[in-house]
Amino acid sequence: MKCRKCGSKAHVNMRQHKLALCKEHYLEWVPEQTERFIKKYQMFTHEEKILVAVSGGKDSLSLWDILVRLGYQADGMYIGLGINGGIHYSDESHRLTEEFAQRHGLKLHVVDIEKEYGQPIPVLAEMTHRGQGKPCSVCGLAKRHEMNRIARDLGYDVLATGHNLDDEAAVLFGNTLTWASEYLLRQGPVLPENEGLARKVKPLCRFYEREMTAYAIARGIEYIYDECPYAEGSQSIYYKELLNQLETTRPGAKLTFYLSFLEARKSGNLFIEKNVEQAHMHPCSKCGQLTSAPGLCSFCRMMEKVNAAVE
Ligand code: SF4
Ligand code: ZN
Repeated sequence: MKCRKCGSKAHVNMRQHKLALCKEHYLEWVPEQTERFIKKYQMFTHEEKILVAVSGGKDSLSLWDILVRLGYQADGMYIGLGINGGIHYSDESHRLTEEFAQRHGLKLHVVDIEKEYGQPIPVLAEMTHRGQGKPCSVCGLAKRHEMNRIARDLGYDVLATGHNLDDEAAVLFGNTLTWASEYLLRQGPVLPENEGLARKVKPLCRFYEREMTAYAIARGIEYIYDECPYAEGSQSIYYKELLNQLETTRPGAKLTFYLSFLEARKSGNLFIEKNVEQAHMHPCSKCGQLTSAPGLCSFCRMMEKVNAAVE
């Protein structure tokens, strides 16, 4: 396999694009494509302040790296979940994120859930009995809440996450299986800003997971290889495996699945009534973030339970 641009030995072969590139040209191609997606979906401009949610994994660190290489004003935010156990997942991902920020002279905000709310994620999950033994629903809730809070308090215009195509296709697959209209309407590369909540964007949503791995390795980015120990056996990993099987026999199937969904939604061909969108959102009476429930948002309601359990 030879690089299409220079003819030297290819580093990455992307069957779905019928494109092979050497390391040097691949490292140019990824930011060029990212810039193209940022413009196409009108994610943000060079004048806006971007907060990148960084987990220490290959996708979020690569995203930060790419945005900085493209000259955007991008600071990082790391959320310490307190998930350690055997592999020291949180300690290790925190260390790698700090190292990356230092090496590139970048600004990193760190929020530690235990310091902020008294307990690490697994204990909060136990105390609130949510999610049948897995802390993921509590974790997702807390991460979303903290990202919105920091973006709002520190005046960021945009919140960027490192979701790649494999992530997005798996979520889409899950939502399609149950035709979850409310989620389908909200899924996409950009979620517009809404009364005090920063715009949310996913600049890597058209890159395959293996493309991001190839980028991180080619750039020499040190990232945490292990997944969070609670990710094992999750539904999204199962969906990813199914989609990978499909991709093996039909290269490009994942990308087509996601892009045709975006296309259908844009042209109003999803057969979903628009009225479920933004159903009666109002600010939480405690933290001010938008919620559809009356009174407190789900995060503040969860914390009330935790506090009640402590007293
Ligand atoms: Fe949180 Fe880990 Fe679950 Fe992901 S897999 S939501 S990091 S607990
Ligand atoms: Zn709240």
